[in-house]
Amino acid sequence: MGRTRPVHVIGAGLAGSECAFQLAARGIPVVLHEMRPERMTPAHSTGRFAELVCTNSLRSDDPEHAAGLLKREMESFGSLVIGAARASAVPGGAALVVDRDRFSARITATLERMPTVTIERHEVTELPDGDVVVATGPLTSPDLTERIQELLGSRHLYFYDSIAPIVEADSLDTSRMFWASRYGKGEGDDYLNVPLTRDEYLAFHQQLVTAEVIELHDFERNLFFEGCLPIEEMARRGVDVLPHGPMKPAGLTAPDGTQPHAVLQLRQENLSRSQLNMVGFQTRMKWSEQRRVFRTLPGFADAKFARFGQVHRNTFINAPQHLDEFYRLRKEPRIRLAGQITGVEGYLESAAAGLVVGLYIALERHTESAFEPLPTTTALGALARHLTQSDPRHFQPSNIQYGLFSELNMRLPRRKRRAAYAERARGDLATWRRKFEIPAVVPVFADDEARDDSRMDVPPEVA
Ligand SMILES: Cc1cc2nc3c(=O)[nH]c(=O)nc-3n(C[C@H](O)[C@H](O)[C@H](O)COP(=O)(O)OP(=O)(O)OC[C@H]3O[C@@H](n4cnc5c(N)ncnc54)[C@H](O)[C@@H]3O)c2cc1C
Repeated sequence: MGRTRPVHVIGAGLAGSECAFQLAARGIPVVLHEMRPERMTPAHSTGRFAELVCTNSLRSDDPEHAAGLLKREMESFGSLVIGAARASAVPGGAALVVDRDRFSARITATLERMPTVTIERHEVTELPDGDVVVATGPLTSPDLTERIQELLGSRHLYFYDSIAPIVEADSLDTSRMFWASRYGKGEGDDYLNVPLTRDEYLAFHQQLVTAEVIELHDFERNLFFEGCLPIEEMARRGVDVLPHGPMKPAGLTAPDGTQPHAVLQLRQENLSRSQLNMVGFQTRMKWSEQRRVFRTLPGFADAKFARFGQVHRNTFINAPQHLDEFYRLRKEPRIRLAGQITGVEGYLESAAAGLVVGLYIALERHTESAFEPLPTTTALGALARHLTQSDPRHFQPSNIQYGLFSELNMRLPRRKRRAAYAERARGDLATWRRKFEIPAVVPVFADDEARDDSRMDVPPEVA
């Protein structure tokens, strides 16, 4: 009986498409609600599912890179998104880069052909009864945003428009930096401070104002508010703006007793302090420019970035407060969230969250006994760890990176550490799968499917 109740998946983006596939391929009926093309978002330009709104890169494909590991884990469950990406890949060096039209055409055609998927093209403004997965992304339509806001309490749905870069602590030369809080407040050593002399600051300012930036969408131009201007925009407004804003030196004296002209503050990003957030450094500079410009800062010559800065509209909930480890709303567990609205960041991570939600619902429907969430030593489990175990007061979206995983209890050099994380993840995922048997599903694409932009010949099969 329970197995025949449809699951309503709202939003056929990266997360919703993957979630619907994982469910439908396991025989669970899905109603997939998508508002495009009837109602478009400001960033999408087609009615296709899983449209990539910006870059066509799904990040590193190196199996020891956290993003590469996440792809392997998703593939082991038969991910539609990764399958379609591989079938639509174009040369991209170490990254998995796709022909975006073929990619989304394949995903659309696959879901359209599945007998267990009913597609409804309309904007959802009220949450349906029964099992619901909300996967409406960073540009969730305003009416539905309001509904979710009401459900959670209005102060807890965040509109987030800026992301500051995160740097790997062990890639910095900290000999000239010092731990301290402004005016000695808080714990006294909450920030790692990077002091700049006047000459150093002027040189850095010059780099900022001449760096290449990503052009804004028209809708984004209206969305910036003064509290989260990109750093290069602030720099353009005047040479003294930053030392009176995010780089203000007030209340910070260097250990040698000098007063810096400007200070960059780095705040710990994870529990182990292995990653540091560049406070107030939200930016629209191109990633290559961020690397180049920030490496001119004192102690940053070899800086490695776990995440680059971005500025765009984003809708996400305060997940540590509202989600359980199975992506269910604590307040109303029949409603699950998947994708960027949960506070994961990026195409790949959003699809991964959709996949996991699909798996959990399938396990719930197919097994009598209780099951455990994916281990936090795996990439799939690490995303949920970030969502549910972060401090709700400082929760920020994140891409997959090893800083989100349960820590390794050994000290290793960077290269070996990555390999150790990946190996541990593979072992622990295999153990979880043996314990809670869940068959993989196989997306099969016909050779000509993407070319004629329509169909897949062979429906997915349960392996
Ligand atoms: C301007 C911009 C640029 C970005 N650039 C990048 C990038 O370069 N790389 C990257 O990895 N990520 C980027 N992102 C983030 C990217 O959007 C997400 O990583 C990813 O698309 C999120 O997947 P999702 O499934 O959660 O949401 P989406 O892929 O956005 O899918 C959500 C779907 O829900 C639909 N929907 C919304 N409201 C309703 C409703 N009420 N009823 C029915 N359907 C609805 C939408 O039409 C959409 O199809 C960008 C985001 C924005 C806004």
